Amino acid sequence: VISCNNLRKSFGSLEVLKGVTSQIHKGDVVSVIGPSGCGKTTFIRCLNRLETITSGQLEVMGMDMSSSKVSQTALRTMRSKVNMVFQHFNLFPHLTVLENLMLAPRKVLKHPDSECKDRAMYYLDKVGLSAKADFYPDQLSGGQKQRVAIARSLCMKPEVILFDEPTSALDPELVGEVLEVMRKMAEAGMTMVVVTHEMQFASEVANRVFFFNQGVIEEDGDPKVVFNNPKSDRLKAFLSRIN
Ligand code: ATP
Repeated sequence: VISCNNLRKSFGSLEVLKGVTSQIHKGDVVSVIGPSGCGKTTFIRCLNRLETITSGQLEVMGMDMSSSKVSQTALRTMRSKVNMVFQHFNLFPHLTVLENLMLAPRKVLKHPDSECKDRAMYYLDKVGLSAKADFYPDQLSGGQKQRVAIARSLCMKPEVILFDEPTSALDPELVGEVLEVMRKMAEAGMTMVVVTHEMQFASEVANRVFFFNQGVIEEDGDPKVVFNNPKSDRLKAFLSRIN
C-alpha cells in the first residue's frame, strides 16, 4: 500500500532522511524505533505528505506522491485513506468529542450528518468512550483524549493509520488503555505504522520493525528475529540501553 524508494528529506542543510527504501503491505503492523532525532517522525510525516520529500519516489495507495506539485485534491484523497494519530492528540478544544469525530467525515467525505453520527458513536463504543460523546477534550484524561483521536481516525475508514508516538505524552498509568485499543485494531487487520518507544508493543503486536539510524532503515524484519538477533552494532547498543 505504501512504497518508498531512496526517499530523502532535508530541512535546510540538515539531511534527516538519507535514502529510505521500504514497502509496507496491507495488514502490516510496523513499529518504527530508533534513537532520538534519527528521523522516525519525519519519515511517517513524509508518508502522508505532511512533509514534502526532497527526492526519491513515494507511492501511496497506488498514487504517485513524489512530486512537490501533487494537487491539493489528490493530497486530500490520499490523506483520507492514510490518516495520522499525533502524540498530542490534536483534538479541537472548542468541539465536543462527538463533534470532533463527525467533522472530517462531514467536511472531507461529505457524508450526511446522520451517517457521521452513527459512525462516530460506533467507533466511540469501540474505544470504550460512548459515555463521553458530549464532553469537551479538556474534560478527558490524556489516555481518553488519545482514544478519541484514534476513534476520530477510524471514522474516516482509512486503509492505513500512522501513529506518531501515540503514548509518549501520557502518564505511565494511561499508556496501557491506548495500547490495548491499538492491539485490537492490529488484530482486526488494520495496516498501521507506529513510531514508538514501547518495546513491548513493538515485540508483541507488530509483525515488522524498522530500526532507524542516522536517516536510514538499518534493520527491517520480524521483531522476534530483529530483537533476538540484532545484526548491527548500533541496534545492539540501542537495545542494551533500553532494556
Ligand atoms: P524523537 O524520537 O526524538 O522524536 P525522531 O527520530 O522522531 O526523534 P525527527 O523528529 O524526525 O526525529 O527529527 C529528526 C531531525 O530533524 C531532528 O534533528 C530535528 O531537529 C529535525 N527536524 C524535524 N522537523 C524539522 C523541521 N520542521 N524543521 C527543521 N528541522 C526539523
